[in-house]
Amino acid sequence: MTSHAVQLSLGEDGILVATMDLHGRPMNVVADALMDGIDAAIARLAEDGVKGLILTSGKADFCAGGDIDRMSKWDTPQQPFDGSMAMKTVLRRLETQGKPVVAAINGHALGGGLELALACHARIAIDNPRLKLGQPEVKIGLLPGGGGTVRLSRLVGIQQALQICAEGNDIPVAQALSMGLLAGLAKDRDDLMAQARAWILAHPQAAQPWDLPKFKFPGGDSRAPGVVQMWSVAPSVASAKSQGNYPAVQYILSAIYEGGLVDIDNAFVIESRYFAACVMSQASKNMIGTLWYQLNAIKKGASRPQGIAPSKVKKLGILGAGMMGAGIAYVSAKAGMDVVLLDTSLEAAERGKGYSQGLLDKAVKKGRSSAEKRDALLAKITPTTDYAQLAGCDLVIEAVFEDRAIKADVTKKAEAVIGADAVFASNTSTLPITGLAQASVRPASFLGLHFFSPVDKMPLVEIIVGAQTSPQALARGFDYVLQIGKTPIVVNDSRGFYTSRVFATYVNEGLAMLKEGVHPRSIEAAGLQAGMPMPPLALQDEVSLSLSLHVMEQTKKDLAATGGSFLDHPGASVIRQLCELGRIGKKAGKGLYDYGESGKQLWPGLKDLFPLAAQQPAQQALIDRLMFAQANEAARCYEEKVLRSVADANIGSIFGWGFAPFHGGALQFINAMGAKAFVARARELAAAHGARFEPAACVVDMAERGGQFAD
Ligand code: NAD
Repeated sequence: MTSHAVQLSLGEDGILVATMDLHGRPMNVVADALMDGIDAAIARLAEDGVKGLILTSGKADFCAGGDIDRMSKWDTPQQPFDGSMAMKTVLRRLETQGKPVVAAINGHALGGGLELALACHARIAIDNPRLKLGQPEVKIGLLPGGGGTVRLSRLVGIQQALQICAEGNDIPVAQALSMGLLAGLAKDRDDLMAQARAWILAHPQAAQPWDLPKFKFPGGDSRAPGVVQMWSVAPSVASAKSQGNYPAVQYILSAIYEGGLVDIDNAFVIESRYFAACVMSQASKNMIGTLWYQLNAIKKGASRPQGIAPSKVKKLGILGAGMMGAGIAYVSAKAGMDVVLLDTSLEAAERGKGYSQGLLDKAVKKGRSSAEKRDALLAKITPTTDYAQLAGCDLVIEAVFEDRAIKADVTKKAEAVIGADAVFASNTSTLPITGLAQASVRPASFLGLHFFSPVDKMPLVEIIVGAQTSPQALARGFDYVLQIGKTPIVVNDSRGFYTSRVFATYVNEGLAMLKEGVHPRSIEAAGLQAGMPMPPLALQDEVSLSLSLHVMEQTKKDLAATGGSFLDHPGASVIRQLCELGRIGKKAGKGLYDYGESGKQLWPGLKDLFPLAAQQPAQQALIDRLMFAQANEAARCYEEKVLRSVADANIGSIFGWGFAPFHGGALQFINAMGAKAFVARARELAAAHGARFEPAACVVDMAERGGQFAD
């Protein structure tokens, strides 16, 4: 029988090929239909004359993972428990039915996809460095519930299994081969199928190692002395990273440890129990909602204007070959664009191109690229000082000094050369786009493309729509961001846009605490405990206090000029004090920290400048302040329509400045807590620490009338 998810075909050699091709989906996922199809394949395999089974895929990838749509409907722990046990029952039959089964891995095998392959007696993959193998479930707050923790522990050892499942990183095929996860690598699909057939014919009575009488875990089970030693440190290593905010990490450790003490069938039950606990956790609901559904919606163009044909940038101009311009040149050339990199001197422009050379040389050295690919990419970047070279650019991105006059000057010069339908973007981090567009003769084609540093690593670009930006220009910017493989969020023009504005509240709150006499180490610990990637004072040093001072002064001047008032944050005076002492941050080797050869340490002089308060607050109070400051400011951005969607708010916060991912983003933080609870706590914080914590009106409204942030 052939199901509509798995096609079966029996060759003359007696080998049955089961091709997974889930109807109506771009990728195979572990849905009921797929498991039914595998069940049918097992039945067919039992027939006389059938010698073995090859499990492969009719799609570009082998199988991408679990069926998240189904998982997100589960609301009792019994459902995920039963769901994961049902999958394992089928897979257990697959590996114990007595005839050889080979997974022919033609593309990514991730999550549930790798678990299917692990239940085969051998795995062979196409030798493609881009092919992804792994158990990334932890990244959305889950654990591999299809036997992944159990089989990996028994196949590659407990320590490697722990690393694969708790970190969730991809395993390159070469590494998978050397650790014994793969039995072989193939040149192409034909070779893959030929090798799979050969394996079957050579192993007529295949069984899993763990079903053989003398089976031993590679490296030992959870009781083995070496493994016990590892277990004595693993939980503390894991919680140093997760700060206890990611229950899935704890559950993965427990599942692997306990599973390593019992037989395989009991290990499966243990794994399913922990899987159910993960599914029920708020952290996984937050991460699935944001990092799966909202991210996918963004990538599919939810924030892109409708009805405009997709565009591609073929030739890109970059003005300013400094840190940002050089990074933008690299990612754009890598995406196949011809790049003109312009600066005031050829030397500066060439230095900008040199940045790409440096990155590529490193990649070649590490075997991640080849000399030919490097040279081809470098040939795409033309350093110059000549504006005439910009002719024919579809898009020009300005990344010169943060200075209005210079930006106006280069805008005019570039616009004199580029075609009427080309789009001009500024990478300014602080200057409102509508104001910069005044220098443009066609402000409808002017927008902001705010990159993050370092450009080649940071996944987000914040697109800023000026008062006159046209939907066509926005669509062009959006398409370009996708073209370079980054995630776009779209926001309306405002001071600090969205990301810089909200990010600043985190750092400022840390400074305000310092001023109040909170111990600096407690402040830094609170930042990490809150789940932020870097504590606030260290981050202020990275940004540099002198830059923050400059932005503050500029803002003050601008607002005075327009008749606005400047609300001084309590952290502002801390910045001034330190700048006066020349402690301007990491780049000067001294700021809130001292930087030496042996690393950095909090500057001991802080306690003289900001004497410690007699009574120190509880850590949770500090964590609340750091998180409420950000979430409340994000809610204000939403209310002021700086933000155009909840998805942009959440994704922008996680990808832009590392807002604690387990909360699912700055607005999801409020949703998960509930507007009522948020308002109550925000008012307590406002009474104790100032009006900045007064809850945003839109959240007060939700608390009174019900509802939550939703697109
Ligand atoms: P940078 O000082 O490293 O580079 C600026 C480059 O512009 C220099 O190479 C300079 O020679 C060149 N330049 C100056 N005047 C020019 C002119 N008239 N014509 C052509 N080139 C000229 O600065 P950066 O950090 O790359 O920042 C550039 C822009 O990106 C700024 O607007 C900044 O606010 C913004 N930005 C910076 C960051 C960051 O983290 N550094 C992040 C986002 C946005």
